Parts: sequence; structure tokens; C-alpha cells
Amino acid sequence: MNLELSDEQAAAKRLAAEFVDREIAPHATAWDRTESVDTAIVSKLGEVGFLGLTIPEEYGGSGGDHLTYCLVLEELGRGDSAVRGIVSVSLGLVTKSINHYGSEEQKRTWLPRLTSGAALGCFGLTEPGTGSDAAQLRTRAVRDGDDWVLSGTKMFITNGTWADVALVFARTGGEGHRGITAFLVPTDSPGFTARTIHGKLGLRGQATAELVFDGVRVPDSARLHDEGKGFTVAMAALAKGRMSVAAGCVGIAQACLDAAVGYATEREQFGKPIAGHQLVQELLADIALDVDAARLLVWRVADLIDRGAEFAVESSKAKLFASEAAVRAADRALQVFGGYGYIDEFPVGKYLRDAKVMTLYEGTSQIQKLLIGRALTGVSAF
Ligand code: FAD
Repeated sequence: MNLELSDEQAAAKRLAAEFVDREIAPHATAWDRTESVDTAIVSKLGEVGFLGLTIPEEYGGSGGDHLTYCLVLEELGRGDSAVRGIVSVSLGLVTKSINHYGSEEQKRTWLPRLTSGAALGCFGLTEPGTGSDAAQLRTRAVRDGDDWVLSGTKMFITNGTWADVALVFARTGGEGHRGITAFLVPTDSPGFTARTIHGKLGLRGQATAELVFDGVRVPDSARLHDEGKGFTVAMAALAKGRMSVAAGCVGIAQACLDAAVGYATEREQFGKPIAGHQLVQELLADIALDVDAARLLVWRVADLIDRGAEFAVESSKAKLFASEAAVRAADRALQVFGGYGYIDEFPVGKYLRDAKVMTLYEGTSQIQKLLIGRALTGVSAF
């Protein structure tokens, strides 16, 4: 694996860093306070090509490899995890699934709109009663002539109230994962409603929503991949999705390091900058180590994907380590800031609140450990 970035990759990282410093980071605290990012950011993300990374140009994508994708997501995560989540979900889970599994008609209908930011996607897997054990989901899709009629509720859906299309997983057959089928549901379909969930600990700028499907009718052409193959679509999306969450976590941890080093060299106590106290340096060194280790794990996953190799377990490892590392980094950075870390005049408190959910979604830390354990032993402990 080559750890030196190519000219194109370095240019993409620079472009993303400049975009974040101009369009995102200055607004992140305000968006957190008002519980919504400015949704104009979506078309700006589309214009600069960040919603089309790795998608072929013939469908409006901006191409590029998965390392480039991770470099951009890291920068977005450094700026605001709420914005990083828009890209991880719309591009990472929805657009990429359509690109991989979609019919030509589905690709022509959705990909140019999704990659340009004219439309946004959400990913509806979790339900009120089924989270980690997603294969038990209860949302139903019943065949009626050439149509399917969907009924059920999805919970905690990122981009839920902003999305134009929902990639929804519904039961079309018997119990278990083989009875699940994926559908692309336009959110202006009669019977579809989305309700914003307020009061989140972090990612407050994100539109996280409960989706209700009350007899939503879609044609069979809205089915993504074969009947009964929905769980395959979901798990494939999440395997890559975990890498993108991990890349965002590296961004959080890097932001913590930058903020903590900056503050430590300016703040004076006991007659010298606190950076000169050994225990403060220990906090900084521990953050730096987590940043580097998490980044290398993310790059390894990207490299495996770009070489066409198996990557799912490595993606779980990267997500597990990077999400826990981001929480540790944010906690340590807050400690460096002392009381000032506890108020939102400085960003480290937000980093801690935002980081925590990374250990929960796209599979909790416990679920990642079970996936890694199963790969190590050949024994499922689910
Ligand atoms: P549960 O599954 O009930 O788990 C509760 C606890 O039990 C956890 O600690 C878990 O690790 C533990 N546990 C469960 N099973 C086991 C086991 N076998 N062994 C050991 N421990 C176990 N979902 C979507 O589909 N789309 C989205 O866009 C989306 N966005 C989200 C955004 C936010 C802000 C949040 C908070 C969630 C989002 N989710 C989304 C849902 C998320 O993926 C789930 O919350 C997550 O998978 C956990 O499910 P749960 O909350 O039902 O917890």
C-alpha cells in the first residue's frame, strides 16, 4: 500500500479543506444551536463534486477512487459531522447502492440528480422495534398488480425530512433476511410522512427523522435488485458506509487535535503555556496517536476496495476503532480546554456530542466486535 497521495488525491484533499474552511466550519456552531444546517449546502456539495465521488461521469458523478472519497469525508468530518452525514448517507448509502444494483432506468432517473445535489437520498433500515437485529424488520411491501404497497415505520433516518428519495427495506416474504426487498420510494408519494426527531445529543444540524409509510404505492420498477435481496443491498451499503463513518471520525479527531494544540499553546497557567505541562502533553500525544492509527485503518479499507479485495471486516475494524478514538479524542480535547471546553463558544464540546453517535449507528461498537469475532472464529455470536 502506497501511503503517499497522488497529485489528484492531494488536490481533492486541498479542495475539500478549503471548502470546509469557507462553507462549513464557520457555521457549524450556529447550525448546531439552531438544529439545522443551511440546506443550501447540499447544492454547494453537489457543485463541487462531493456528492458524486466514485460514481461514473456518465451518470453525473465525479469519479475518483475510494481513498479520495475518504480524504473528502475526513475533511467534511473535521468541519461538521452533520454535513459529513449528508454525504455519507446520500452518496455513500443511497447513490452508491443505485449505481451498484440499479437498473439502467433507475440509474438514469436518480444518479444525475443525486450527484448534482438536486436531490437527496435517505436510507431507511432501522425501525422502532428493530435496530441491531435489522433482519427482523417489520415494514411490509405487498404486491398489488404491477405495484407494491408499503406500510410501516422507520426510525432515526438521517436526511429523513430533506430527502427526495428513500431507499427503504421492507418485508416481501417470510421471516429473516431472505424475506426483505429494497425499494426506491420518492418522498412525495401519497402516504409518506417524515417527522423530525428533536433533542438529539449531537448531530443536531442533521434532519434525523421518523418515516411513516401508510399504504405508499410504488411500481415494481422502484424495486432495487431482486425480490428477497434487500438485505444484501443493505449490508453491502453498510460495509462501505462504515468506512465513510470512520473517515468522518478521523476528521473529528483531527479537529480535536488542532483545537487542543492551538489552545494549549495560548492558554497560560502556573506562569507558562499549559502546553508546557507534561500531563497536558500526554493528552495531546494520546489524541495524535488515535488520529494516526484511525486514519491508517481507514486508508487500508479504501485501498482494499480500490484493489477489488475483500474489505468488510476491515471496514468494521476501522469504524469500531475510529469511532471510539473520536470519542476519546474529543474527551481529551475538552479536558485541555478546561471549563472553556464545556461551553459552545469553543467547538470541542460539540465534537464530543457528535462523536458519540458514531459508536452507535451503522452497527454499534458491540455489533462491530461480533462481526470481527465471527470472522476470526467462524462462529456467529449474534
Ligand atoms: P439496539 O439494537 O436496541 O441496541 C441497544 C444496545 O444493545 C446497544 O448497546 C447494542 O450494542 C446492544 N446489543 C444489541 N444486540 C446485541 C448483541 N447481539 N450483542 C451485544 N450487544 C447487543 N438507521 C437507518 O436505518 N438509517 C439512518 O440514516 C440512521 N441514522 C441514524 C442517525 C442517528 C443520529 C441515530 C441515533 C441512529 C441512526 N440510525 C439510522 C439507527 C442506528 O443505526 C441504530 O440506532 C443502531 O443500529 C442501533 O439500533 P438501536 O438504536 O435500536 O439499538
